[in-house]
Amino acid sequence: MARAMSRIIREQRKLCASGQAGRENGGRIWRCHREAGFRYAGPLVKIIRTASRAAQFRRDTEGRALVLVPTMGALHAGHLSLMRKARKLAGARGTVAASIFVNPAQFGPGEDFSRYPRPFARDCRLCEEAGVDVVFRPEPDEIYPAGFSTHVDEERVSLGLCGKSRLGHFRGVCTVVLKLFNIIGPDAAVFGEKDYQQVAVIRRMVRDLNVPVRIVAAPTVREADGLALSSRNAYLTPEERAQAPVIRRALLLARHAHSARPADLARLMRREIARAPLAKIDYVEVLDARTLEKPGTATRELVIACAVWFGKTRLIDNVRRKSCVS
Ligand code: AMP
Repeated sequence: MARAMSRIIREQRKLCASGQAGRENGGRIWRCHREAGFRYAGPLVKIIRTASRAAQFRRDTEGRALVLVPTMGALHAGHLSLMRKARKLAGARGTVAASIFVNPAQFGPGEDFSRYPRPFARDCRLCEEAGVDVVFRPEPDEIYPAGFSTHVDEERVSLGLCGKSRLGHFRGVCTVVLKLFNIIGPDAAVFGEKDYQQVAVIRRMVRDLNVPVRIVAAPTVREADGLALSSRNAYLTPEERAQAPVIRRALLLARHAHSARPADLARLMRREIARAPLAKIDYVEVLDARTLEKPGTATRELVIACAVWFGKTRLIDNVRRKSCVS
């Protein structure tokens, strides 16, 4: 981060010296305070807050690839890896958009909607550094105007795993993602494999509803001890944080276990997770990685997925492995 900052300061100084600062430069807009002795004042990505401005933006960039990264903000290195992937997909001439919207429709009653972190200024800075050109940050009533009454329900892939413990969650996800696709009009969208079921549900929605957006999945980014990065990790107490890597350890045990029988893998996972006294299993499931249904003879790859509570924080993660169910 420090290196990126000093690079930005150097670039900004060059721009100020050449009199270009404050003008569009390579698709990015830079802010400069000459009077403050070129003090770093933060890069500015373009910020769009309404659907009509987004439509205008899409018209202005017509004919150029547009890649979207939908997020709820409170960005971390996992989100930034999706943005960098989007940057590569879009190419030098293309555009990368990130949406930052804490979607009320995907939170159930009693979940963490109101306490979900919203560090918007910091998020914009990180977006800029990851090569994002435009941030779409609507208010809830822009997405859900008064009288809103239409939802998207995927009725198969959403049923198990998180869909079972978070009723209505994927209805909220599908509805907002389809709306973001309609508002922003991307050619492709990048999602993280950490939310494995989410990617599967969105792929299914896009296929079933002929949505002309290519869905690209990106690998999970982790802390050094294996814990998957998540905006919710910030809720963990030091004791919970110390025990949370048990999730990854259990998943790796299952991935490398000699037996690939789903029941054996699930048992192994449960036993390992039980070694962490603060962990409470929500689910451990071993499913067909493609269909998210019970593995059968046609299953080539398994996904081993789990959700585990640490206090009031629910963490999810998954791994895949070859199947040999016969
Ligand atoms: P969220 O802000 O939690 O809705 O996540 C936005 C996107 O970032 C989703 O596609 C997530 O799957 C993805 N994401 C979240 N955590 C990670 C991670 N640790 N590594 C890679 N992608 C992630």
